[in-house]
Amino acid sequence: MTRETTYLELSDGKSHKFYEVTINDIEVTVRYGRIGDAGKTTVTAYDTPQKAQAEVTKLVNSKLKKGYEQAEKGDRTKQPISRGDRRLARLNHLRRTGWKPLIKPTLDAPFASKYLGKPWLSPGATHPNCSGCGGALNFHFQLNLQELPESLQGKFGTGLFQLFTCYSCYKHFPQIVALPESASTPSEVEISAEDAANLSTWTPYVIQTSGIDDFNGRYMLQIVGWQPFDDYPFYEEAQETYGTEYTEYEEMLIFHVDERDREYYDEDDPDRPTPIDIQLAWNRTADKLSGWEYWGQQVEHHYCRICGQPMQLFYQLGHGVEYEGNQGLDYDRDNLMLLFQCAEHKDEFNCYCSAF
Ligand SMILES: [Zn+2]
Ligand SMILES: [Zn+2]
Repeated sequence: MTRETTYLELSDGKSHKFYEVTINDIEVTVRYGRIGDAGKTTVTAYDTPQKAQAEVTKLVNSKLKKGYEQAEKGDRTKQPISRGDRRLARLNHLRRTGWKPLIKPTLDAPFASKYLGKPWLSPGATHPNCSGCGGALNFHFQLNLQELPESLQGKFGTGLFQLFTCYSCYKHFPQIVALPESASTPSEVEISAEDAANLSTWTPYVIQTSGIDDFNGRYMLQIVGWQPFDDYPFYEEAQETYGTEYTEYEEMLIFHVDERDREYYDEDDPDRPTPIDIQLAWNRTADKLSGWEYWGQQVEHHYCRICGQPMQLFYQLGHGVEYEGNQGLDYDRDNLMLLFQCAEHKDEFNCYCSAF
């Protein structure tokens, strides 16, 4: 009768854990947990040694597939749970899912979800003008509400959401228009060599600057998908609205920490921003669908003018979209725009511009 133990570990930026399987005739003992801890143990008996061996092979292979490796017990030592993980665990009750737009620069298409390009106008309609000064409105954002993540389908209505802005009056004109029945977005379009060359200079330019478009709507940054992420509120929002202790949040270094801020701290300084801090800070100001809005003075007082209920965050046109490692589509360097919508009256919007 042989007794055999397989010991595996997974240790990367996120995990630091072990998995140990011991077979003893028909008995299989599994022990697992954080490296350095005793872990949890389960013992299962099988009808035959062959069945026990088959189960061991299956368990070990599934762990190897997940990135575990054969290891020597004791080579790696116990690691403290990271400060970032501990803080986030305390804020579980405030976590929401936000969705980052994934973009692809391409030829404009009328019904696409997009930044820039041309707005779809119903047949016979002309480009809208500002109700204040009469000038032609600037267009830069359209969402096809049929193309939202499945869990958000219907939450924000149906049709096309469009945002027009007058940069003389600083007024915003959000609206939802119905889609014609035949509306569809082409999945693959052929791009000529000339367009490809234009796109290669246009794309980094509009992503990094104000989005001024020299091609008159010929190209768009199409939203081709959504990436979910854990989103947490700005500390003042958490404190005022949800009673979270300020100190708890202050500790999170939630101000605009980025890679450069790390240089001010020694490597072993517990206050040094972690990669999680930096990602959280970015998420808070980035462009996103749903999730938490960036804090602004009196943001919590956005109520629907019809029913009086508080509005929900629909979209944040923030500090930018992530694109090929590039963080930034800045419409306006000092501001971001929060788009609120009434859950009941889906044509009712409020635009709130917040300064950083
Ligand atoms: Zn105007
Ligand atoms: Zn309402």
